[in-house]
Amino acid sequence: QSQELSQARIDYHTALLALQEYGTRMVCTGKMHTDRICRFDYLCYCTEAEEFVFFHSNSSFMLPNLGPRRFQPALLDLSSVEDHNTQYFNFLELPAAALKFMPKPVFVPDVALILNRFNPDNLMHVFHDDLLPIFYTMQQYSDLDDEARLVFMEGWSEGAHFDLYRLLSSKQPLLKEQLRNFGKLMCFTKSYVGLSKMTTWYQYGFVQPQGPKANILVSGNEIRQFSSSLMEKLNITTLGGEESPVEEKDEYIVVFSRSINRLILNEAELILALAQEFQMRAVTVSLEEQTFPSIVKVISGASILVSMHGAQLVSSLFLSRGAIVVELFPYAVNPEQYTPYKTLASLPGMDLQYVAWRNMVEENSVAYPERPWEQGGIAHLDKEEQDHILASKEVPRHLCCRNPEWLYRIYQDTIVDIPSLLEALRATVKTKPNLKKAKPASTVHPGQVREPQCQTSVQATNEAKLTVSWQIPWNLKYLKVREVKYEVWIQEQGENTYMPYILPHQNYTFSENIKPFTTYLVWVRCIFNKNLLGPFADVLTCRT
Ligand code: UDP
Repeated sequence: QSQELSQARIDYHTALLALQEYGTRMVCTGKMHTDRICRFDYLCYCTEAEEFVFFHSNSSFMLPNLGPRRFQPALLDLSSVEDHNTQYFNFLELPAAALKFMPKPVFVPDVALILNRFNPDNLMHVFHDDLLPIFYTMQQYSDLDDEARLVFMEGWSEGAHFDLYRLLSSKQPLLKEQLRNFGKLMCFTKSYVGLSKMTTWYQYGFVQPQGPKANILVSGNEIRQFSSSLMEKLNITTLGGEESPVEEKDEYIVVFSRSINRLILNEAELILALAQEFQMRAVTVSLEEQTFPSIVKVISGASILVSMHGAQLVSSLFLSRGAIVVELFPYAVNPEQYTPYKTLASLPGMDLQYVAWRNMVEENSVAYPERPWEQGGIAHLDKEEQDHILASKEVPRHLCCRNPEWLYRIYQDTIVDIPSLLEALRATVKTKPNLKKAKPASTVHPGQVREPQCQTSVQATNEAKLTVSWQIPWNLKYLKVREVKYEVWIQEQGENTYMPYILPHQNYTFSENIKPFTTYLVWVRCIFNKNLLGPFADVLTCRT
């Protein structure tokens, strides 16, 4: 930090003059607080008051200029978790003239990205809420480069996975508690506040039961670009060679075990059974016994990853294409209702297979009613409530995060019934060869068909023809596409239904269902390989 301060001192007077003259300047993206990221010049932070400060001068600006709507409920979300009321960002305002009476500001020369980590001790949260959003927010703004300074304002200490956050920039991230070391008033020369939510795929159930986000905007490609970048920074080359397809590798199974709670009680038996059934090596990893980079290295070369439901399963974002994720659920927990890892594995282009297994035999589970409530204990509840939980065969849908029945069930240990697990797995492993060959799915979509035209003729009072023709999309001549088809929609003007047709060529003459002296609206689009849809060309109006 001494180096940074001396660096700051060089421009200190210029910076101070600029702050006094120009004040703070802010421009943001996003119409709502939930999709907003703001860029600031000279955003300041008062460490005593623990408040950000916007200095007004004659040349400061603030876009959006919301007036008091800035507090309804906030200017923006500081974490990637949507609209969580503990994660709001706002600032206080002061006239720049007040600087005269304030402690001398310390300037942070680096371009800063200011955000809240959501739950830095939980690996799923680390990746989903923080690392991926930070990575892609940095991609969005080119001055957030390798020299950028991450500033974590949630107030936690480093946490168990701080080394992962360190990978995102060459500069040590700053924690809220460290800001005091800089003095009473610090000013970020250039900063961005907030995180992109574009990569998140799951909502944790704060306002409705947990589940996949309604509008997922990320595909496997972006997840894999992120994980490759992380692996590069960790100097990890996949076991068996990075690019070698799964089938040529020495195949093996990884069981990701938890050693503190939610245990697999017959882990040794499980590993032997898996190895024997699939004729592969089977190894275990756990966060308690290996470093995270060594776990990533093992997982990135694995054919099958088996684990109890839990945050460690987010590591499946390091699996290679075609691998299988097997998620085990304790007794009375319905896999359909807890799908962060299923959703990840099923993202388009992620090319993972996903299998859920659930313990259906109550005797095969060990519960811990006497533990503290956050580890699933229920001893603190009324007898009646305890009995109700004990008698229940499935946790009903619930909100995050303190539902005692959910915690009781999810922290059970499990003796995995091997035959039923193998049964669930066999079908998937059989279909694997098809998937193994799957190249990263091509996602080049067709352009609009060009020069769409129609010609019509009337044959008789009740007979007419409609010929529609068009040219291939412009990008097709540069592509090798396995199958090119065209879709034509024909709607009689004024009707609210249409007839769709799939056609192999660039023209077609319709005579069935075509009436004389009638106006038809015709749409044409191109389709590559059965499911890559192009846009419709401008609608044709064709009168017979
Ligand atoms: N964890 C672990 N081993 C254990 C229990 C937990 O590695 O035996 C890790 C887990 O992967 C997560 C963190 O500790 O990163 C918090 O676990 P918790 O059970 O609270 O959350 P969950 O895994 O259910 O999301």
